[in-house]
Amino acid sequence: MIQTHALNKTFGKLKALDNLSIDLQAGSAISLIGPNGSGKTTFLKCLLGMVIPDSGQILFQNKDIAKDYTYRSQIGYMPQIGRYPDNLTIRQLIEMMKDIRKGMYSQLDEELIHAFALESLFEKQMRTLSGGTRQKVSACLAFLFNPPVLILDEPTAGLDPLAAEILKEKIQHEKRKGKLILITSHIFSDLEELTTDVMYLMDGKVQFYKTLQELKAETREDKLSRILARVMSRESKDGQQLKPFTQSIHQQRVIM
Ligand code: ADP
Ligand code: MG
Repeated sequence: MIQTHALNKTFGKLKALDNLSIDLQAGSAISLIGPNGSGKTTFLKCLLGMVIPDSGQILFQNKDIAKDYTYRSQIGYMPQIGRYPDNLTIRQLIEMMKDIRKGMYSQLDEELIHAFALESLFEKQMRTLSGGTRQKVSACLAFLFNPPVLILDEPTAGLDPLAAEILKEKIQHEKRKGKLILITSHIFSDLEELTTDVMYLMDGKVQFYKTLQELKAETREDKLSRILARVMSRESKDGQQLKPFTQSIHQQRVIM
């Protein structure tokens, strides 16, 4: 559904994406993992057309995204940090998004708005919201237009445990409909039941991209957190650079 060919992106001297080629199939739920600064957000923003790569190509349903931006209406995006016009109320923001997308969606999905009970906060201005509530609004917008592709950049960060659980269930539900889901998280337990494939980025390079089945067979482990600990400690034997990362991986909530 989405292919990238030899993507490169530099910020000054820093190489954020290094020759990144990948093929993301519809129906998969891909956990994009890697330490801070490994290029996860940059990669996701390239797919969205929010960061323009220096070189390389991105195809969405076999069409070059540089030539046709309309593919974006098929993606629901939950940014790592959501930025919205401060003076709008939640209601106005949602109405504005509906207006912008008018004619581009067939059905609205307001399930999360109800599940988070956001209606009771509808008249509050965005600037007055706590970080967690802002995240809830971001989540509601990502799912609102029932898109076939979901790009979720650390979606549970900052959410209270109940809200995180609600969101995880929603992601599972959409996965069962066969949507393509790309998700980053440092909390491996959040990815546990969801993941079909793991893409591991390091210094802007794909260190590996494997199905969960392959990883299970390779490591003879069943739990995603244990699988990842194994794979990463194995990789660290080949190159020392992974070491600091592997040490922290045994913690339940890994901060990368
Ligand atoms: P991750 O999401 O994996 O933590 P990012 O994709 O946000 O990593 O960042 C990758 C690298 O690119 C980091 O070193 C970051 O500082 C740098 N970077 C990202 N966006 C910009 C930008 N707009 N300008 C300069 N450097 C950037
Ligand atoms: Mg990021």
